[in-house]
Amino acid sequence: MLRRNFIKKSTIAGAGIGLLRSIELNGKDRPDSAPKSVNGKRIESRIMELAKFGKDSLGRGYRVAYTQGDIAGRTWFMDLMTKAGLKPVIDAGGNIIGKRAGMDPNLKPIAFGSHIDMVPDGGNYDGTLGSIAALEVIEVLNESQWATWHPLEVIIFANEEGGTIGSKAMTSGLTPEGLQQRSQSGLMMADGIKAIGGDPDQISSTVRKPGDLSAFFELHIEQGGILEQEKIQIGVVEGIVGIVHWEVTVEGFANHAGATPMNMRQDALLAASQFVIGVEQVIKSVPGAQVGTVGKMSVLPGAYNVIPGKVVLGLEIRDLSAEKIEMLFGEIEKKAAAIATASKTKITFARQPSHSQPALTDKDLKELVDSTAKSMGFTTKFMQSGAGHDSQHMANIAPVAMIFIPSIGGISHSPKEFSTTTDMTNGANVLLKTILNFDQS
Ligand SMILES: [Zn+2]
Repeated sequence: MLRRNFIKKSTIAGAGIGLLRSIELNGKDRPDSAPKSVNGKRIESRIMELAKFGKDSLGRGYRVAYTQGDIAGRTWFMDLMTKAGLKPVIDAGGNIIGKRAGMDPNLKPIAFGSHIDMVPDGGNYDGTLGSIAALEVIEVLNESQWATWHPLEVIIFANEEGGTIGSKAMTSGLTPEGLQQRSQSGLMMADGIKAIGGDPDQISSTVRKPGDLSAFFELHIEQGGILEQEKIQIGVVEGIVGIVHWEVTVEGFANHAGATPMNMRQDALLAASQFVIGVEQVIKSVPGAQVGTVGKMSVLPGAYNVIPGKVVLGLEIRDLSAEKIEMLFGEIEKKAAAIATASKTKITFARQPSHSQPALTDKDLKELVDSTAKSMGFTTKFMQSGAGHDSQHMANIAPVAMIFIPSIGGISHSPKEFSTTTDMTNGANVLLKTILNFDQS
């Protein structure tokens, strides 16, 4: 295996000089060594520049997908891509794609990127770091006139925050129903895609097939507080958790709160309260990073003087393993049955269609990110991503790796979101070096 690789590599290397001349490198041959570092100051200043686009009337960040702010930010970004020689195009789903030629046109591209849209009143780092760092990789390669074997592709996904719409379009396609959903901008998804230069009528042309890309890399802020708390510089993402939602209905009997003695009640809220505590007990009963939340509750009829007759709850479980989610749900069901019997209520579950499957990153790429980061002297940690990312969809068509850097205070989707320039530079350097290492292998 090693020997075969060696032979293949030396054959390509032999053909390299001719191929090198065929791609645009200002007419010069490839230098002796690849670029060592990104320009951290440039990353920081671009983060700040992009942050100026898309403000609401109160001056809060509002680069929500498909709005004027999003369009202005995308225009600015595409202008930078053009200056870096990437010739950006917008696919039918509204994703921005820029390509840089490689020396071996037979190799499938190495893609990397993230998103630049934000949640209302969001922060300046979520998505933007991975996007600006992707451009930075191209710029330092240009500056040092380094040609890669693989073609490179920078992808800026459209509308990540509104349901990873661009990456869904690129991997599994969008349904006619999905295109008719209303987006946060107020526009229907189809109209929003049109507003940013996509073409909802040709949406299927966006779809990539497994094997179309050699790999996909995404640098992102952690959005949680683990790396900062444990003083670790680089997070190597093992996967993006699956999410399952259930609507839970607790039915008791609404009755007079004054005239019904305590031992004659079927109080749905009392049972629901026990259920909430039971969920926490079940989730914590086994080791692991799984999380379970009851995040909403409506109490009916909802009056001081009426014993609650019905409570509707929202239950969510997240984990990297779909089997574990089902196992935990099974335990929660058992607990609910016991609570229902004891409280003379009825508890039923309706699984919601909005679930997402866990998406694992590629084993080899994960090891490559880890060994690359360690070789650069960084501390690393394998971890899961509790938040959704475009990478989870890209994992359906390509080997995927994600690199996390610390979020100060573990705050995200907030104007208080912050990552230091040092951490951003570290992350972008790991992205650069991992891409170069992958390219050589
Ligand atoms: Zn993001």
